[in-house]
Amino acid sequence: MFNLDEEAVHRVASVFPLRISPEYRKLIGGKGDPIYLQCVPDGRELQGNEALLDDPLGEEEHSPAPNVVQRYPDRCLLLVSNECATYCRFCTRKRKFRSGLCVDREHVFAGIDFIRRTPAIRDVLISGGDPFLLDDGRLEEILRELRGIEHVEILRIGTRTPCMLPERITVKLVKMLRKYHPLYLSCHFNHPDELTPKVVGALGRLADAGIPLGCQTVLLKGVNDDVSIMRKLMRKLLLARVRPYYIFQCDLVYGTEHFRVPLRKGLEIMKGIQGYLSGLAVPHYAIDMPGGSGKVLLLPRALRNVDGARLTFENFRSELHDYVDIEEFKGDL
Ligand SMILES: *Cc1c(COP(=O)(O)O)cnc(C)c1O
Repeated sequence: MFNLDEEAVHRVASVFPLRISPEYRKLIGGKGDPIYLQCVPDGRELQGNEALLDDPLGEEEHSPAPNVVQRYPDRCLLLVSNECATYCRFCTRKRKFRSGLCVDREHVFAGIDFIRRTPAIRDVLISGGDPFLLDDGRLEEILRELRGIEHVEILRIGTRTPCMLPERITVKLVKMLRKYHPLYLSCHFNHPDELTPKVVGALGRLADAGIPLGCQTVLLKGVNDDVSIMRKLMRKLLLARVRPYYIFQCDLVYGTEHFRVPLRKGLEIMKGIQGYLSGLAVPHYAIDMPGGSGKVLLLPRALRNVDGARLTFENFRSELHDYVDIEEFKGDL
């Protein structure tokens, strides 16, 4: 069909599972295109650099309870599903799909119990796998339990189903979700072609339920390592009422080296977005640090010179302009 290297696909898929949703499959235009690259197994996934660990973010070490990852004092991840509608070939949690993340009710509830016993946690990010691959009843049980914890203020769901399985965003699901506000949703889009009319419809149903929508994007070679593609993606997201939130440097996961993009390129893309697009369309550019020390934000350098209180900045058009501070400036920007 696409002149697939079937032997390589089978070999890779026996280690890292293959699943492509019908809607996403329809978007593949040809071998090696940005949609294909994200979902079709590639022989290079098994030729990883051994230095890139299976668990690059040290999630296992930062797990204080089953299915919980905590790196920040006031918020944590709760992993509730080990399935996705499509398996992204660059997934950070590939190891989980290989060794099997235990997401039965008992494990998830042990995680919820930890959150209940930890009053510092105000914000819970429900993730997986994809939480929307649970049926409405199981998902609601989790939301109800978490909502019942007094110190939990914010609930967030991280899901790629609006992109991969827009038909999952049913009127019934949305009606259930809106009972658990303040509920935020982080979706995941990497290419403007992913925002089909059906997908935009699904996002609209969520937005109409008052659920603020954010987007996480992963910077991927051959997919979106290009200023004009990223600009188009950010504009299309904003039109679909999704606020771009993060562009992530691809995590250093075993067998995903062929997706890596140098930081120089990421900064160049940020420079091509900021100032040229509505501020609402400008995400943070971040590295989730190897080892699990949290996210670090990267900004194109703006400060060009310091002369006492007089600072010279470079604007988005690469022109230099002065700003005078109220005292001599010491520090770094
Ligand atoms: C990314 C992440 C969060 C959320 O970080 P925000 O910057 O608040 O979106 C929380 N916990 C873990 C473990 C994370 O990796």
